[in-house]
Amino acid sequence: MICEICKKIFKTFSSLKKHVNKNHINITFEKYCLKYLIKDINEQYCELCGEKKRFIGKENLMYKQYCGICAKKSESFNQMPTGRRFTMLDCRLKELKKYLKSLCSNQEAPIL
Ligand SMILES: [Zn+2]
Ligand SMILES: [Zn+2]
Repeated sequence: MICEICKKIFKTFSSLKKHVNKNHINITFEKYCLKYLIKDINEQYCELCGEKKRFIGKENLMYKQYCGICAKKSESFNQMPTGRRFTMLDCRLKELKKYLKSLCSNQEAPIL
């Protein structure tokens, strides 16, 4: 691992991180990563909504997968027991059927 600013060599990523935080105070470690380590600048934005994501700063994980809001959304759905997930979808389906029925009954001569 080499510090791209002063070309000092480090054994681990975390010692490089400490070094940048301590010695290059005019640049945050996040900015350092964006400038020298992350190839895709879009990495810092949430792929679902485009919001800026939280910086983690690990060698294999620079940013969270989603922004806080999207992570919460996907988490609450993923953590739902499978059974409940189906019930939820089933409820939606019933609502939809009811809605379609009401649409049809409102028409004097249904097309179908
Ligand atoms: Zn340095
Ligand atoms: Zn998002």
